[in-house]
Amino acid sequence: MISVEEALEKILATVSRLEPEEKAILDCLDQVLDEDVVAGFDIPPHDNAAMDGYAVRSKDLSGAADGRPVYLDVIGEVAAGYVSNKNVIEGTAIRIMTGAPLPGGADAVVRFEDSDELEHKDDGKRRGKIGIFTTAGKGQNIRSRGEDIQSGSIVLKKNTVLRPAEIGILASLGKSRAKVIRRPVVSILPTGDELCNVDRPLSPGKIYDSNSYAIAASVLKCGGIPRLLDIARDSMKPLKAQISHGAEADMLITSGGVSVGDYDIVKDVLSQMGQIDFWTVRMKPGKPLAFGLVKKQKRNLVKEVPHLGLPGNPVSSMITFEQFARPAILKMMGKDNFARPTVTAILDQAIKNNDGRRIFARVRLTRNAEGWHASLTGPQGSGILTSMSTADGLAIVPEDCPLVKAGEKVKVQLLEGSEYIW
Ligand code: AMP
Ligand code: MG
Repeated sequence: MISVEEALEKILATVSRLEPEEKAILDCLDQVLDEDVVAGFDIPPHDNAAMDGYAVRSKDLSGAADGRPVYLDVIGEVAAGYVSNKNVIEGTAIRIMTGAPLPGGADAVVRFEDSDELEHKDDGKRRGKIGIFTTAGKGQNIRSRGEDIQSGSIVLKKNTVLRPAEIGILASLGKSRAKVIRRPVVSILPTGDELCNVDRPLSPGKIYDSNSYAIAASVLKCGGIPRLLDIARDSMKPLKAQISHGAEADMLITSGGVSVGDYDIVKDVLSQMGQIDFWTVRMKPGKPLAFGLVKKQKRNLVKEVPHLGLPGNPVSSMITFEQFARPAILKMMGKDNFARPTVTAILDQAIKNNDGRRIFARVRLTRNAEGWHASLTGPQGSGILTSMSTADGLAIVPEDCPLVKAGEKVKVQLLEGSEYIW
């Protein structure tokens, strides 16, 4: 048996970062930037008003106060998106709207609220003079040129993950495309004579193939592109053909056929098609796992495609995906932080650990004055998929811990979507 860490280490050592692609920025969400992005100009590109008000010369306002206004001649108006063709000279002001470039000569903006503007709001007349009730410091209510981004600076470093803010920054720099590490295409191959496609009627003895969909959805969540393949039956020839078809991708994930049953022939087929290791990982659920490289001949080139063989039981396949496939996909996408956030929680029921494996127990989290509480989501069989659906996280019972009693603390790995409980 190998540990969860050993298995993960081997998998990560085999998969590598994919090559970059260039595409429209909105298609790059959550992908990793493969270039430094340098600003071609300042942002904001000019000094501009941070408030609606009057552009003034600060020295014209000395002595202004409540009840003792300084009157200035209003010589023009400038709205956002326009440039004033007049300069503010001694004793004058220009009416200015938020975002409008500061007119020449002005060094401050005084808010409407600090003038008699609002007192005359309803008289409908354009006023030749404005009374200002306050002094103003130089630069007051002005956003200065380049205060956000300076021309020539590196705004986004290579390897930054593009979140909505970064997509916005790219747009603000006038860049409609970006160079990012491409998303891996992941083939998903369900195996088993018992499986029935979801759009066919169920005949006796059969079950619907749910793994393909749970795995494909998980691939989407980590940013990969899932490709669902037809169900492979438990016989050599079709399985071989399907695996070969599945290897037309950046990664192949199979489910089922890797344990020790009579019909677990995925193992045999894979051994013939590449370099595959079969592991028993010290974890529960999810003990049997296959990993290696499937060889794919393309013209006179041999391509090696990473293959991860997940166990067939629905919970085992999801939990092994979470521990092994997700980090591998993230690495292919150029990411280097694979760990899910964890919380420490008080366990509400005892968990026994009889056979020295690491238990990933499905728990629901709640919070009270004591902190987080973790409660089992019901029966924990590896076929009980609803126990995943009602879980916020996986409580981890270490290999060397035979019992966690109710009231003791456990580490809980948060699952996708667990932010909804916050
Ligand atoms: P296996 O690992 O092939 O021995 O499969 C173990 C059990 O997992 C099977 O008996 C099925 O009950 C279940 N199983 C296998 N593949 C799937 C699948 N694609 N969808 C849902 N359940 C499956
Ligand atoms: Mg099977």
